[in-house]
Parts: sequence; structure tokens; C-alpha cells
Amino acid sequence: MTETPTGAIPARELIRLSAADLANRLAAGEVTSVEATQAYLDRIADVDGGERGVNAFLHVNAEEALAVAAEVDAIRATGGEAAGALHELAGVPIAIKDLIVTVGQPTTAGSKILEGWHSPYDATVIKRIRAAKMPILGKTNLDEFAMGSSTEHSAYGPTRNPWDLDRIPGGSGGGSAAAVAAFEAPLALGTDTGGSIRQPGAVTGTVGVKPTYGSVSRYGAIAMASSLDQIGPVSRTVLDSALLHQVIGGHDPFDSTSLPEPLADLVAAARMGNVEGMRIGIIKELHGEGYQPGVENRFNESLDLLRNAGATIVEVSCPNFQYALGAYYLIMPSEASSNLAKFDGVRFGLRVLPEDPPLTIERVMAATRASGFGDEVKRRIILGTYALSAGYYDAYYGSAQKVRTLVQRDFDAAFEQADVLISPTAPTTAFRLGEKLDDPLAMYLNDVATIPANLAGVPGLSLPGGLADEDGLPVGIQLLAPAREDARLYRVGAVLESLLEQSWGGPMLDRAPALASTADSVDSSAVTAAPNHGGSL
Ligand code: GLN
Repeated sequence: MTETPTGAIPARELIRLSAADLANRLAAGEVTSVEATQAYLDRIADVDGGERGVNAFLHVNAEEALAVAAEVDAIRATGGEAAGALHELAGVPIAIKDLIVTVGQPTTAGSKILEGWHSPYDATVIKRIRAAKMPILGKTNLDEFAMGSSTEHSAYGPTRNPWDLDRIPGGSGGGSAAAVAAFEAPLALGTDTGGSIRQPGAVTGTVGVKPTYGSVSRYGAIAMASSLDQIGPVSRTVLDSALLHQVIGGHDPFDSTSLPEPLADLVAAARMGNVEGMRIGIIKELHGEGYQPGVENRFNESLDLLRNAGATIVEVSCPNFQYALGAYYLIMPSEASSNLAKFDGVRFGLRVLPEDPPLTIERVMAATRASGFGDEVKRRIILGTYALSAGYYDAYYGSAQKVRTLVQRDFDAAFEQADVLISPTAPTTAFRLGEKLDDPLAMYLNDVATIPANLAGVPGLSLPGGLADEDGLPVGIQLLAPAREDARLYRVGAVLESLLEQSWGGPMLDRAPALASTADSVDSSAVTAAPNHGGSL
């Protein structure tokens, strides 16, 4: 890795700073945005490519990122009003899940059908990131159209988990989570329809947040299931997610489901520093049987820490959560089958002509979709079309919508007894690449704990909860709050994060064996029982 030219902060330290820390140092003039952006671009060049590279990025946007960084540095250098008016995160780089459209860079949705396609407009969240002058490092890998839990359904090859290069980084937003975990970006954006921000966060040891439905604009996020999709932050710390959430959130007239009122101050909540008197509810149905013992152990430790910090732990029951996964896998494919109808070989991206005449529009459409979509996307389009067809609509789609209401009622009842709910984010740690690829049902089970929040529209946050005893891999802890109460997630999340880090003697990512290159002097005394996985980054 190259050192920063001026050498104020060595590049390997620079890329490990939290976004908040980097922002402070930029404001104090200790480092420039060009130095930080270049350090991240160098890191991407070092670890992302090649046969055993992380493959978090589908596109790197070096020139534009450096130009934005230089602009921020120039404004800062002049001082005065313009410098004072800069956003807190100005100059802090970010990576974007390639489901979110961006002018000047390709957007593929992880699919061959959009290969080479450029959006003529920016998503609202991208406009806000540009307004804050955050350099965009590039676009990150994902399962095709965000359908998956491992990033293996990407048409551009899987992303590797920086903790163990032979394991999955979660999905569908594995690229964003891996980029942040491998110190290729301090921040990223993801989208979460059933867990695609939180589950990748859990298995890569990073923080991921699914905001309240409607609190972050979906305008410009290629729709998978519109009633479930949310854009949200990916970061290494809870405070960093709060900072980014505040940049991207707020009303947007371009999204008809956008909430009119802003959320409470998320950054202030992350800085509050106490959970005394808060009632935290363990969801009986979302732990125990079916959860890996090491996941359960770390979950129990987090409960102890919160209890010691003055929170009251209560148990709540959400009996209808057992039907949530089934309902999700009817509602999501139904909406997806409709949303993906627009990829017809006429309007966007790929066009494949049928081999034999006649050359009709239907035959062009069929040939394009047959070769442009991967197996998982086809599976879900077929499932959704079936569930919506006359004669099955009431039995499948209608029943699933009823279950959705029951899940919402379970949440309402649970939030009468608790301010925040808590569960493991995922039932297991990262599995091996290929392990569940041929077993869609096993793959779908990864989201058993994350899906209820999407069905109900409530916010959820996943933070690193330690390493599982049996495999030394990251475990995620999920917090859930009532709709519009995202601030509670940051308040409890930041306290739990700080208690956990005290118990480990530092951030969990410092203990990732595959991340520690030989040139790095990661404090080996902080490394616990983690076996050495995969290659070294
Ligand atoms: N893994 C889930 C699915 O495959 C969730 C996807 C998502 O949140 N985008 O549908």
C-alpha cells in the first residue's frame, strides 16, 4: 500500500479511521480529502481485484472522486464562509450499491440485462451525497436485482468476505458491506428489502441500518419490491451510520411513499450515551432453536451488557413472525415480477434478437429476458407471476397480505412492552461460498430475523456483537424500533457498541485475521480465539 504523500497520517491508518474521525481531521486540516480518497482508491487497487480479491466493486470512479475531493480541499483552504458552510461529511468518501442510479457511472443492478447502462438521472440519495460533497468511490457488487443473501447471484462474480475469503459476505448488499469491512471505503449505501443491509453487516462485522419505510427516498433505487425496499447506511460505527442517515434522509416529493416529517436528530441520539430506564424486548421467536450456539452466546452477552448499563430486559412474543418468511416470499416475488417487467429489451440495456424469424416484439422480449436474467431472478418472476394469477391471487398473495397485517400487530403489541426490540441479526455466521447456492430455501432462511421489519415498515440496525466461538466469525446483533423512532436504534446501538468495544479492547474489525496484511501491525493481543481464515489482505 502507498503511504500518503505528505505522510501526516500513514495511509493504512487513514483508511481505518471512522467517518466521524476522518471528518474531524479534515475539518482540522490534519489531512486532505484528496489524501484520504487516494488512500481508499489505493486500498481498492490492492485488495479488490484478482482471483482472490474481495470483488466488492463493480465500478471504480477514481477521477470523479478525486475531483470532488480536490474541490472540498480548495474550499477548505480558502477558509471563510464557504468553508464554514461545508457539510460535516464533506470530503469523506463513500461507496454506492449498484442498485442505486448515478449519472456518470454505470448502474448494473448486478445483472447482465443492464450491462453498460447509464442512468440519465441521479437517485435522490445521490443528489444529497453530491450536495454534501462526499466523493463517490464507485459502485458495489450485489445479488442480481438484490435477490439473495450471499452476493453469489451477481452476474459479475461473488464478493468475498474480508474475514475469510472463502466465505460469503452476505447479501444482497455484500459488496457495500465487504468494502467497508475491508477498509476500501469508510461508508457505503445499501438497500434492504428483507435484510440486505443488516445481514451483510452481521456477517462482515460492520454496522447496517434499514431506516423506517418512507424516511429515506427510494427515488432512483431500482425497485425490487416497492412496499419493502429501503435505502440505508453501511459503516464501521453506529455514529457513522447516524451521520450518513441524516445526509440521505428527509422528505422527497419524487417518492410518493416519502414521509412528510423529518426524523428526530439521529446523531444526537448516537451521542446520548445512556440506556438507563429503557425497556429492551427479547423476541422469543427470534433466537434459540435454529440459531448457531456461538450466535446465541454473543447475543446473551449483549443482553448482559445492556442490563448492567441500566436497561430493563423484558421478553416479548411475536407469534406471527413464524409466518413472516413465507409471506415475504409471496409478496416480494409478486412485486418483483411486476417491477422487473420493464426490462423488456426495448427500454433499457440489453437487447437480444431471436435466432429465427419472425422478429416480433414478444420474441425479442423473450430472448432478451431469457439471456439477460439469471436463475434466481427468473425463479422469483415465475413465483410472483404465479402468485398473482387469477385463481391463486386470493389464496397466495391475499393470504400473505393478511399475514403482513398480523406481523404489524405483533410489533404494535411488542412495542407496548418495550422501547426497542433485540435479536441476533442472522441465525448463523458467514457460510462458505457455494454452500447454499443450489438450495434456495436454505438461502432464504438467512433472513428469518430481518424480514419482519420490512413487512411492518419499522427500522432495524445491525451492529457487530463479537465472534462466534465455533468459527471465530462475526455475529450481528439486531435492534428494532417503532416506525419513525430510528433515533432509539442509534441511542441503544451506540451504547452497546461502546460497551462491547470496551470488553474487546478495541473495534472488532481490528481482529479480522484475513484483513491484517503482513505490513500491518494490528495488535495481536486483541486477537481472540479466531482461527486464521483464508488468505491475508
Ligand atoms: N435476502 C433477501 C432476499 O433474497 C433480502 C433481499 C434484500 O433485502 N434485497 O430477498
